[in-house]
Amino acid sequence: MEQTGESYTKTLRKLPAQASTSEEHHAVAELTDPNVLCGVRLTLTRAGASAKDSVEGVVISSVQSGTGDFRWRVALLSPFEGTQSGGVIEIADDNTWNLAPSLADVAAAAARHDGRCPDGRPWYQPDQVPGDVLATGPELHRMLLKPRLGQPPIATKKLHRQPDKLLYAIADAEPKQARTTAEERRWRRERTCANCGTTSTLTFSPAEDGKRYCEEHRADANRRTEQQRAEDTRVRASLKAREIVDDPDTVLVAMTWDRELQGYPFRMETFGGELVLERVLPYIAGAALLSTTVDDLPSWVSDSQNLACVGKRLIEAPEADPMGAFRKLLRAGGQVFADGDLTPRDADNLVGLYRAFIGPPDASAGHDMPTVNWKKSTRTAVDVIDGVRDVLREMAAVPLTDDEIKRAKRPNRVRRSKRYRFYESRRSILAIRQDDRRLAARIYNDATGHGAEQAKLGG
Ligand SMILES: [Zn+2]
Repeated sequence: MEQTGESYTKTLRKLPAQASTSEEHHAVAELTDPNVLCGVRLTLTRAGASAKDSVEGVVISSVQSGTGDFRWRVALLSPFEGTQSGGVIEIADDNTWNLAPSLADVAAAAARHDGRCPDGRPWYQPDQVPGDVLATGPELHRMLLKPRLGQPPIATKKLHRQPDKLLYAIADAEPKQARTTAEERRWRRERTCANCGTTSTLTFSPAEDGKRYCEEHRADANRRTEQQRAEDTRVRASLKAREIVDDPDTVLVAMTWDRELQGYPFRMETFGGELVLERVLPYIAGAALLSTTVDDLPSWVSDSQNLACVGKRLIEAPEADPMGAFRKLLRAGGQVFADGDLTPRDADNLVGLYRAFIGPPDASAGHDMPTVNWKKSTRTAVDVIDGVRDVLREMAAVPLTDDEIKRAKRPNRVRRSKRYRFYESRRSILAIRQDDRRLAARIYNDATGHGAEQAKLGG
C-alpha cells in the first residue's frame, strides 16, 4: 500500500490514470456497499449543468429506499440552491448528479485501502478537514453538540505523532444537555473578551493575568501584566534597599586592586560610614588566594578583629567577590568560623536588587553592554563603598505609595506563562551576567559613574 500522506481527494484525483481495467471491474463489484462514500469529499454537478454550477460536499450517510435505491446525504461546504453551507441535501444514485471522484473511483481506491485509515474510513490531513461539516468529539463539545447515540464516526483525522482522531458529521450531532446557570455564566466568561466584550463561539485562551481576551486584546493584556510585574519587582527591590539602609547591622564590603601596593585593598564600612575593617589582601602568584602556604600569609590573618563582621548584614560590591577572597585567606591562616558567618545572605545580593530596580536592559542596547574590569578601575575601596552606598540610597529613596507597597507584597496569583518560563530557563549565563554588568559599570567605571551623577544633578 502506498503511503503518500496526501489528502484522500488528491489520491483519488490521480486515480483514473493509475486504475487498471481489472480494478475498475473490482470497484463495480464493490458498489453494493453504498457506505464506501461516507466521509468522502465530493464535487457534485447536476447532469447537464456546467462545471461552474457545481458544489462541494461531504457524504455523511447513505440511505436505502424500499425499492432498493440508494440515496446519499451530503453536507455542503458552500451555499447551494437555497441550502446554506453546512446544510444537508440528498442525492440519488440515478445519474441526475455527476460525482467527482466517481463512485467507481472511490470504491476502487477503498478496495486498495488508498487514503483510508486502518478502520477503512477516509483519512484527512489536519489542514484538509472540512471544518464546517466534520468535527472531532472535543470540537463538537465546544460547539455545544455531541454525537447522537449510535452515530458513527465517518472519517479520520490524521495527526502528526498523535493518535488519529475520529471525525463526526456535525449535521447529525445533537445539542448537549441544557446547562445550569453557573455553567452558563462560566461558558459566557470563557467566550467573552474581558476588554472589549467581544464574544466568540470558541473559548478564548486565558492571558497571563488569568482573564480571557480576544486575539486583538490578549497581547495588550499580557504586556500590561508584564509591566505590572516589572513595577512590582522594582517596588520590592526598593523596599529591600530601605530595609538594608535602615538595618544597623549593615556592613558594606569592597575590594579593589592597587598596582603600587601589589595587593587588594579590602574595606568594610557600616552604612553610616564607620570603618569596620581595613586590610590589604596579598597578591599571591599563581592561583591568587586559593592555595597559599602559611609563609605567604600576612601577619594579621589570625587577628580576631577580622571576625568583627560575623553576624552582620554583609552587602558586597559586585564582580570582585571580596568576601570569598577574605574567607579563603582567613581559612588558610587557620581561622575557624562557620560557613554562613562571612557570607552575604542570598536575598541581599546587590546585583540582583539593582537589576530588579532598573529593569531588564533595553533590547536595543542588548549587545552593547558596558565592559567592566574592576581590577583596572582607578577607584579606591573607599570610592567603591561610596558607590554602593549611593546605589542603595537611590533605591531606598524612591517614593512609594501604600497601594504600590501592598500590591508588590501580594503574592502572584497567576503563574508566569509556560512560554516565559521557557524563555527564562534558556537565557544564557552570559546574558544574565551582561545584565549584571550595569551595576559594576556604575560602581567601577569612572566615566559612567560621573555621567550618572551629573545626570542626577542636572535632572
Ligand atoms: Zn477584545
